[in-house]
Amino acid sequence: MKLSLVCPCYNEGDNVEKFYDTCEKVFGPVINDAEFIFINDGSFDNTLEKLNIILAKAKYVVKIVNFSRNFGKEAAMYAGLQYADGDYTCIIDTDLQQRPETVLQMVSILDNNADYDCVAAYQENRKEHKLVVKCKNMFYKLINQMCDVDFKSGASDFRTFRKPVRNAILSCKESYRFMKGIFSWVGFKTHYMPYEVSERNAGETSWSFQKLVKYALGGITAFTAFPLQISTIIGVVCLLLSLLYLIVVVLQKFIIGIAIPGYAVVVVLMLLIGGIQLICFGALGSYLAKVYFQGKNRPIFIVKEYKTSEKETDDNYHGHI
Ligand code: UDP
Ligand code: MG
Repeated sequence: MKLSLVCPCYNEGDNVEKFYDTCEKVFGPVINDAEFIFINDGSFDNTLEKLNIILAKAKYVVKIVNFSRNFGKEAAMYAGLQYADGDYTCIIDTDLQQRPETVLQMVSILDNNADYDCVAAYQENRKEHKLVVKCKNMFYKLINQMCDVDFKSGASDFRTFRKPVRNAILSCKESYRFMKGIFSWVGFKTHYMPYEVSERNAGETSWSFQKLVKYALGGITAFTAFPLQISTIIGVVCLLLSLLYLIVVVLQKFIIGIAIPGYAVVVVLMLLIGGIQLICFGALGSYLAKVYFQGKNRPIFIVKEYKTSEKETDDNYHGHI
């Protein structure tokens, strides 16, 4: 059994070596055949130098995919999957928040359960700020109500899966990628396993609250057209309300004899309708933008350089990517 580890790195110069050494120590007695695919996602620190040091000393096969710029973790994971050719593939962060010991647990679950295709680690207790946890839980509730596919709250990209799952993910070539959604969409039997997230070894997370909100909204529009339908629902409600108001005003005029109220009503109605229309345009715009970018059909990532400690054969040659 060969294990491929897909390891995205963005400014992880202080972490990658410790990450690899820990993995080698933990995997050593158990796993003979493994490959580490490090994707250097446009880091501006010394990550690449450290990766070259790892490549020179590693016991396992090491592949370094060096991006031409920062394309984001989603693109890095996609690239890593293209270079992975193990029977099992595991996606793992390189900051040691996700422990190699957990990878062994996932591997043994797959070994012992032939009917599981994927093992996904999820956090039972999130260690983040209460507000962030609340927002994340709300996001999962919302997206689960809107989408046909199921999203497991707390499940990250930290997963180990068999080859058919890897191939299915690679067959999803959309330019705006939302891996949590893609994992659900491709299906397969997934076992969810609780795990504890450790502290970051060094450095800081690259996710700000603003980035998370953008990512969450992007995820929603990537997997459901429900926001477009909301526009229609709001439109119908407004139409009904305005008809009702028209009837009230006409009745007031002809039965009770009250004069039709003045400009205040007009301003309020204009603002209301204008606001609703802008929201609808916004929803429309975010889908249009996705179609626009997909229409360009640009590659999801660009490799500047590829290096491996493995001997190139026709089977593992990736020069065409
Ligand atoms: N990462 C990446 N490209 C990016 C941002 C992050 O490859 O643009 C990598 C990063 O090096 C790490 C993983 O993705 O291995 C998770 O990132 P981070 O630790 O910042 O996120 P968090 O664990 O806080 O969710
Ligand atoms: Mg992290």
